[in-house]
Amino acid sequence: MTTVEAPRQAESTAVEHFDVLIVGAGISGVGGAYHLTKQRPGTSFVVLEGLDSFGGTWWMHRYPGIRSDSDLHTFGYRFKPWVGPPIATAEEILSYMGEVIDENDLAPHIRYNHRISSAKWSSDDCRWTIEATHTDPETGAEESKRFTANFLWMCQGYYRHSEGYTPEWEGMDDYLGEIVHPQTWPEDIELAGKRVVVIGSGATAATLVPNIADDCEHVTILQRSPTYFRPGRNAVDLAETLRELDVDEEWIHEIVRRKMNHDGAVFTKRSFEEPEVVKRELLDAVRQHLPEGYDMETHFTPRYRPWRQRIAFVPDADLFKGISSGKASVVTDEIERFTPRGIMTKSGEELEADIIVTATGFNMNVMGDIAFERDGEPVDFHDTVTYRGMMFTGVPNMLWVFGYFRASWTLRADLLADFVCRLLAHMEARDARRVDVRLRPEDEDMELLPWIDTENFNPGYLLRALDLLPMRGDKPEWQHTQDYWNEKDWIPAIDLDGPEFVYR
Ligand SMILES: Cc1cc2nc3c(=O)[nH]c(=O)nc-3n(C[C@H](O)[C@H](O)[C@H](O)COP(=O)(O)OP(=O)(O)OC[C@H]3O[C@@H](n4cnc5c(N)ncnc54)[C@H](O)[C@@H]3O)c2cc1C
Repeated sequence: MTTVEAPRQAESTAVEHFDVLIVGAGISGVGGAYHLTKQRPGTSFVVLEGLDSFGGTWWMHRYPGIRSDSDLHTFGYRFKPWVGPPIATAEEILSYMGEVIDENDLAPHIRYNHRISSAKWSSDDCRWTIEATHTDPETGAEESKRFTANFLWMCQGYYRHSEGYTPEWEGMDDYLGEIVHPQTWPEDIELAGKRVVVIGSGATAATLVPNIADDCEHVTILQRSPTYFRPGRNAVDLAETLRELDVDEEWIHEIVRRKMNHDGAVFTKRSFEEPEVVKRELLDAVRQHLPEGYDMETHFTPRYRPWRQRIAFVPDADLFKGISSGKASVVTDEIERFTPRGIMTKSGEELEADIIVTATGFNMNVMGDIAFERDGEPVDFHDTVTYRGMMFTGVPNMLWVFGYFRASWTLRADLLADFVCRLLAHMEARDARRVDVRLRPEDEDMELLPWIDTENFNPGYLLRALDLLPMRGDKPEWQHTQDYWNEKDWIPAIDLDGPEFVYR
């Protein structure tokens, strides 16, 4: 007798078509939806989100203390005032985003539990076909869904949400305690009376450590090398003064945004022009919060110049308070191997731990692990050249929102949303169904370089992914400049009839 297995996934035959399909309901995708409704009211669109709610990064990450390290006047949207303290918890960011969705009736446009697996461009039809799997949140039943769209707006972020990056260390299998990655923090983790070692020295470790220090017996930060931190009060003096003067929140938001952006620009410029002075200022600020005679040189003096990696803000110096109180300590050393009881460092010290937290970063993913095709051929984004870090040669009718490293991500999400709306209007005016970016004759011999200049910015997750990421050129048009202060003027001024755009 032959048994025929029931198909695991039901096939839905209906194909829905939209003018625009937004991938992801994080801060970029929800912002995109807002701008489309305001700037292109007649445009049909859908937001497909793999998770069961909005927020992306802020929905996925659940580790204790999870918060922004940018101020919310600039990480918040341009169009909705932020009225709380500048550094916000994930919960506060989600509640802010929820208000944006409610106040602008965006919910009917968002489909949750829709994970996109492929996006295929057809030049004959001038449209994308998107395959997604819808998972029923109640039953877990999966159904294939197909959508078509004229324009694809990639707001899927830059890293894999399902798992963090954990390097392989010898002996990990022998370790008898629990290994946890902050990205998949277990809800029921028991910290009381536990010795915890947190591997890593970035923003995640700096946030997590003060927030668990009181709950566990002791927490040790194990870092290979130190990071720059900026301790400060979780408040903006100017915002407080303006509130005292009873100024409207809309004004406060705009004025404080300008102030934060201005200060950020000055700081970035100084980091390049007088790195030693900036370094000294940063280190002095940290030293003030540490006990007399603390070994700053070993634990808090980075080996790189300021701003080569993101500088983590430490609100109210909470990390350093934990160190001063003795609940937290820092070990700067390399890992030799895991042991059954903990970690053996290269200098021969065994750090005993009941729980090891690997705050070792992300796995970057390009385009949300979606398989792209153009006219039946797979697209390898590494073979493309980026137009201003948002569009790609050989990939029509598509834009990716990749924010800034040294300024808030959302500043760029807003700027690019304006650009998409302008581009769609321009295509309509020209009666064009397709837009491509292409190198101009003067760009043909341009040297092609990796996505980022690693001299300029070099976090591990980007270095590990350079082989997957698109190429850049040596002119601002063909790179993600990471320069908000210029892009805020450049992007609105892009000539859509310039030779780098081809319409059909
Ligand atoms: C812990 C942490 C703190 C951070 N703090 C800051 C900060 O203070 N300031 C700052 O500027 N940046 C910060 N960042 C960077 C941060 O990720 C961005 O600022 C921003 O939140 C990214 O928003 P996004 O909407 O572009 O992407 P994400 O927040 O990553 O959201 C993308 C969404 O797309 C969905 N998606 C992806 N692939 C698919 C698919 N194939 N099918 C369907 N849906 C898909 C995901 O499920 C997700 O919901 C932080 C990052 C982390 C991890």
